[in-house]
Amino acid sequence: MGIFGRERIEAKTDDQIVAMRAAGLVVGRCLELCQREARDGMTTKALDTLAETFIRDNSAVPSFLGYHGFTGSLCTSVNEEIVHGIPGERVLREGDLLSIDCGAIVDGWHGDAAISMIVGGREAGRPEDLALIDATEDSMWAGIAALAVGQSLYAVGAAVEDSVTAAAARDAREYGIVEDYVGHGIGREMHMDPQVPNYRVSGRGPKVTSGTTVAIEPMVTLGPEANHVLADDWTVVTDSGARASHWENTVAATSRGLWVLTALDGGQARLAAAGAAYAPLG
Ligand code: MG
Ligand code: MG
Repeated sequence: MGIFGRERIEAKTDDQIVAMRAAGLVVGRCLELCQREARDGMTTKALDTLAETFIRDNSAVPSFLGYHGFTGSLCTSVNEEIVHGIPGERVLREGDLLSIDCGAIVDGWHGDAAISMIVGGREAGRPEDLALIDATEDSMWAGIAALAVGQSLYAVGAAVEDSVTAAAARDAREYGIVEDYVGHGIGREMHMDPQVPNYRVSGRGPKVTSGTTVAIEPMVTLGPEANHVLADDWTVVTDSGARASHWENTVAATSRGLWVLTALDGGQARLAAAGAAYAPLG
């Protein structure tokens, strides 16, 4: 996978990272709102309208809306949909596994994050879906904790893969890591170099420098990761119909440590649990 090898990582200043935190907080709070409001009987479009209103009420701009013609402010991916689901007339049902991806721009700076949840709450979820959601979230945090100045960016994917492999053994289930979609650099644009694969790749990879900002976003399937895009040209689904989970955060790495820009607590709790340095700025 040498295609990743020559990418450069653009370093942000402390002030620029603080500006990105403003966008990250709008995204994090929007996802918190969506998680609270998503319920049985609601269309994904209604959830999207809620999100767009929240983003604009917070003096931000939805970054997905109009992106290559995308018609939502969220991506809403239900059950066998892995990523890039278009908000529409689909009605959410109790027990659905819903992944919500959100992006917002504040003063030209982007934030990008995703969560997975069960409609109706965890008590409405199948045990295998709860395990999948937790395994995917844990793999995201393992990847985030592996981001460190002076180290290879590829440490992120190796940590994601090791976390998913360990979870599969612990849960006695087959989990697939989606390889066709990866994390990315982020800043003045949503998608920038470098790509951040969610699996181990050979080669040294770009070195993480102080001021690196990336979106880390594993997608994990309950079974084989083979997937395809629906006729709507956006929605990515598993070939087998198995369910999938997607988690994402925008993260800043400096020589002092990590600041998870889209996490409401800046990542403090999960970074501490992982033994990684929590280093908010400003
Ligand atoms: Mg995203
Ligand atoms: Mg992203």
